[in-house]
Amino acid sequence: MPQNCWEVKQCGREPDGAKTLERGVCPAAAEARTNGINRGKNGGRCCWAVAGTLCGGKRQGIFAQKLSNCMKRDFYLPVMNEEGSGAAKKTAEILRMLQKEQALRSLHKVDGARAFAQS
Ligand code: SF4
Repeated sequence: MPQNCWEVKQCGREPDGAKTLERGVCPAAAEARTNGINRGKNGGRCCWAVAGTLCGGKRQGIFAQKLSNCMKRDFYLPVMNEEGSGAAKKTAEILRMLQKEQALRSLHKVDGARAFAQS
């Protein structure tokens, strides 16, 4: 069974994890839009593509800001090796999907603000 990042790193930031009550659930463990990618639960096997994850007890940035750190750690490369060349393609697809949804959310906020201002 493929392991999710929280199982490998034992961070305790997954739902019902050892540190969740004290510190909250990591966005990777909660990101349902990426469920099943690389055979992981939520973002558990594509955490490098999820913005604002909590590795090292510190909020990480977006993909471009954290990829070099993820590549040095002991999870990214094993997943890439286990999933084969499709994993890199999937990362690009995940980013496009998450960015598209983010852009749509921003657009809705702007539209909502305009509608509020005009009312
Ligand atoms: S990405 Fe989040 S859930 Fe995964 S190991 Fe890092 S802190 Fe834990």
